Amino acid sequence: MKKIVIANWKMNPQSLREAEDLFKNVKKKSSKLKKVKIIICPPAVYIERLRKLSEKTNTTFLGAQDCFYREYGAWTGKLSPKMLRNVGADFVILGHSELKSLGDTYDDINIKVKLALKNKLTPIICVGEENRDNQGTYFSMIEKQILSALSGVGSQFSDKIIIAYEPIWAVGKDAKKIISPEELIQIVIFIKKILADKYGVEKIKKINILYGGSVNFRNVEELIQKSGVNGFLIGRDSLVYKNFNNILDIIENS
Ligand code: PEP
Repeated sequence: MKKIVIANWKMNPQSLREAEDLFKNVKKKSSKLKKVKIIICPPAVYIERLRKLSEKTNTTFLGAQDCFYREYGAWTGKLSPKMLRNVGADFVILGHSELKSLGDTYDDINIKVKLALKNKLTPIICVGEENRDNQGTYFSMIEKQILSALSGVGSQFSDKIIIAYEPIWAVGKDAKKIISPEELIQIVIFIKKILADKYGVEKIKKINILYGGSVNFRNVEELIQKSGVNGFLIGRDSLVYKNFNNILDIIENS
């Protein structure tokens, strides 16, 4: 299975020109990689144009950063899964902690997952605890998030979902600390167990479990080699050419 690297550009960059430059860099790099699949999640306004730039190689895929939980209708400012699919997205990030903090609920995320699948978008489901305690209550929090996101999602879709474990305490510029491979491998095993109980051991071999939270070229080698994840969701360092290229090289050669 190829390793997966997802770039979450968030609300960056500010112009199409800059987005094209960033994307061309990734595309050039990706054509030299054999073991890594790259999914760029730019602001939705850039997807269609970037899709045109990616068409010739198809080594770099595009995803959206969210979709709405309704398919049609009078919803000012919202984007339906089908619209995103029609402009060229193959993936969609759902349940990102920044959107949860703006009100995205477990129920919303579950509807979005189902609508994404219905519209042939692969959902990248973000889960992760806000804080850790010594009692391990974060395990039940992660379980609840996964099971509610996948409620009513049958095993025929199990190879079409990606789980991104993103502990909120490790994400973004306010991250409190960096996760260790030892901490991460426990969670990866735990997530696999939840998915195996739901879908069966055979099915879960095809489910990608990724990690996101302050991944950079200094910590990525240890994380890919020792934590059991199949790739990463990267925020800040996906916006810096050199750093992102470094990360991709390290994963390719690990
Ligand atoms: C994120 O916001 O999903 C993320 C992983 O960000 P960063 O890599 O900047 O911590």
